[in-house]
Amino acid sequence: MHKYTPLFWSTGTFNLVKNVLCYLILTILVTGVHDLKPNSKFLQRLQLWMRGRYGQNDTLNRFLNYLALLLLIISFFVRFNWLVLIAVILIAISYWRLFSKQIYRQVAINRGFQRIWLPLTRPFSRLKYSITQHWQYRFFHCSQCHQRIRIPRHHGRVRITCPKCGHQFEAKV
Ligand SMILES: [Zn+2]
Repeated sequence: MHKYTPLFWSTGTFNLVKNVLCYLILTILVTGVHDLKPNSKFLQRLQLWMRGRYGQNDTLNRFLNYLALLLLIISFFVRFNWLVLIAVILIAISYWRLFSKQIYRQVAINRGFQRIWLPLTRPFSRLKYSITQHWQYRFFHCSQCHQRIRIPRHHGRVRITCPKCGHQFEAKV
């Protein structure tokens, strides 16, 4: 008799616990030291140690961290333990870059990455920009000169003056 078990559970409780632990440790590594008290001894020592090191959470490092996080989340659902290893390697690379003393080299590496990455993500960042714009503003077109006018939302009924031709009209924003 065939018994149905979802793939997620078939990896066993031990693997699940191990993955959760890995995930927790890695999220602490990824999110870094944001939660430390500003005057703690550890933070002072860290600042001293970081002197002369790159220390920038730049585009490449953020990409590496998010990719590592994504791989870890996927690793919950598939039977492919190498994903965790790849995630660890990605995070190790991001920390190597963070602690590197060759600052100019890291800047150049990040620039090289941005040259490939930014054109790929440009449509998405444009979409995000236009969504946040429409969230905060309402857009009108002047009925006389077709000028596009941007008005902040949530002000009720307002009188709008076209900045180009001076035509006035009322609208709800
Ligand atoms: Zn106008």
